[in-house]
Amino acid sequence: MFESTQIDLNGYTPVGDIIVISLCTVMAVLLWQTHINKNTKFRTIMTILATTWVASVTNVIYEMLLYADNIKPIIIYILRIVHHLTLTFIPLLYMQYLHNPLWIPKKKKRRYGLVTIICITAVSLLDICGMIFHFGFYIDSNNIIHKHFNVYILLYIFTLSAILFVIIKYRTRVIRQIFYGLLGVNLMSALIMIVQAIFNQVSYTCVCYFLPVIGIIFMFHSNPYDIKTGAVSGCFLINELNDATEKNNPIIILSITMTEFSKAVNQYGKFKHEFYSFCRKSIKKGILYHFPNERLVLTIPKKSVSEYQQIIDNIVNNFRKNIYNKFNLEYKIIVMETSDKIIDTGDYIKIIDYIERIMPINEIHNITDKDIENYYNTNYILSELEDIVIKKDLNDERVLVYCQPVFNLLTDSYDTAEALMRLKLDKTGMVFPDQFIPLAEQYNMIHTLSMIILNKTCRAVNEILCENYELNRISVNFSALDIKYEKFCQEVQNIIEQNNIPYDKIAVEITESRCETDFNLMRQKVIQLQGLGIKFYLDDFGTGYSNFERIMEIPFNIIKFDRSMLIESVKNDSSKFMVSTFASMFNSLNYAVLFEGVENDYDETHCVNMNAKYLQGYKYSRPIPIEQLKDFLKHKAV
Ligand code: C2E
Ligand code: CA
Ligand code: CA
Repeated sequence: MFESTQIDLNGYTPVGDIIVISLCTVMAVLLWQTHINKNTKFRTIMTILATTWVASVTNVIYEMLLYADNIKPIIIYILRIVHHLTLTFIPLLYMQYLHNPLWIPKKKKRRYGLVTIICITAVSLLDICGMIFHFGFYIDSNNIIHKHFNVYILLYIFTLSAILFVIIKYRTRVIRQIFYGLLGVNLMSALIMIVQAIFNQVSYTCVCYFLPVIGIIFMFHSNPYDIKTGAVSGCFLINELNDATEKNNPIIILSITMTEFSKAVNQYGKFKHEFYSFCRKSIKKGILYHFPNERLVLTIPKKSVSEYQQIIDNIVNNFRKNIYNKFNLEYKIIVMETSDKIIDTGDYIKIIDYIERIMPINEIHNITDKDIENYYNTNYILSELEDIVIKKDLNDERVLVYCQPVFNLLTDSYDTAEALMRLKLDKTGMVFPDQFIPLAEQYNMIHTLSMIILNKTCRAVNEILCENYELNRISVNFSALDIKYEKFCQEVQNIIEQNNIPYDKIAVEITESRCETDFNLMRQKVIQLQGLGIKFYLDDFGTGYSNFERIMEIPFNIIKFDRSMLIESVKNDSSKFMVSTFASMFNSLNYAVLFEGVENDYDETHCVNMNAKYLQGYKYSRPIPIEQLKDFLKHKAV
């Protein structure tokens, strides 16, 4: 019986179908067990697996029963129709699945579906007619099987070509890798079909329909690929950049970051739609990556300058028109090009991060060589700052104290000064506060720097006093972060003590704080240190959110009017009146007023007329190394 079955199967072997049956079962069980979203996509995949399973099972049974004795022809016919129909139903399910990632318009999808259904019906009818009118496949009255022509072959050719057509037609809507992946798998299936046809075989038909399922699952689900936006996970950007650098293929990197993006996605369905459509339009030009911090990055191969410039302009205009204008989402756009100035590919994203932090909102920034240089400098400064913090040496050679003498109008002499920090680093030379203070604050490293400056200032004061110069005090700048530090008062006290100078030779400059808890803390600490004789300056008055009641609650000794107040007051009489009223009010409340940024004689007379007590600015001196301060001081009268 076994031997005769083998011969009778007429070249059919169930191996292919059995493998498909087992793989479908295994995959369905595994997919069911994974923690994936059991959404429509998932259900479509499951349906495809189930349909393929039925197609294979019916095929095995059909082929087995075909030459068995005493089987009613109707059973053979039913099995045959079920097998072929389930098989050709699979491409419809593919279409159902692919319409989303390939973004096939609904109309087109319906049209493709309709054409496929018409073809399936026509071929099935043709097959049934063949059975009735005895052409094609039929079993005659003597139970003899006739296989003239398998009409379903037409259907196989049609459905496989339809899938290939759709994939190729909409290829620009998925990233290249996915397109080649899908194309490869489907061509493989077509090849098996052709080989089968040549050898007059049918054993591997189900295999051909099964391979693309694996392709879909693998391409869209095992990849970090977002079906809705068409974007790939940002961590893969580095691969493309490495590749581009190695092969010397320049690419343009376009980064768009939106604040409140996740909120918008959750709140407005319309935004989601526009955003997805924006993404899909954009990825036609290159590869789109999504990053967790609400950033999209598009990479475009740089062919000709005019071409990519136009692409970028289009994308940006499209973004402004459809996303920004409609939903008012704030954004920052950065355009960058692969460059040999970049040391490590990982730096690209870091540079984008860096520029994004410092650039204004709702603008586009083209990254230049200068930006890249600044980034590396900043990084270098940061690493040096880290080292300074780790070493915690209060005499660290890299931290320099400069100072600016302050002119006292009452005594007509320089008897105070402001300490200003500089860094002197091997690779960059002198670094100014605007380049490192914000960094040090951001990375919580300012405190060590402040203590070094305080220590070095105390040391200099000690020397100045020992050499018998007249010096009332030097003020040191502290950041709000310093004040918050728990042991702030104790540390300041210790450092002054260790340097053997009276407490009142040091003053503390702070800027006002908007935050309620900070404010109360500040007040507490000011009062504590003032008890020792340390004076307090309110720095940059006029730049913040000056709230008089607030200021009065902290017993400052000196109010420093920011240079912007001086500039404003020079402009017209009413501003001058306002500034001088502020100044006289502070004076009558026993605060001394200091004007910053006095640059020339005109500024000086102006400030004198506005009730100034102290003057500071380039007119008197630029910031100088603290060792040179003595040149401005008088010797004590003996
Ligand atoms: P600031 O406390 O307002 O310091 C005054 C700044 O104005 C100094 O800049 C000084 O060089 C500049 N300046 C002085 N006279 C004139 C003038 O006549 N015209 C103009 N246009 N500018 C003048 P510098 O040294 O670059 O410091 C900038 C800022 O960095 C300081 O502003 C301060 O906020 C911060 N800073 C400096 N040293 C330290 C420090 O040791 N600790 C902390 N936390 N911040 C510091
Ligand atoms: Ca200051
Ligand atoms: Ca100031």
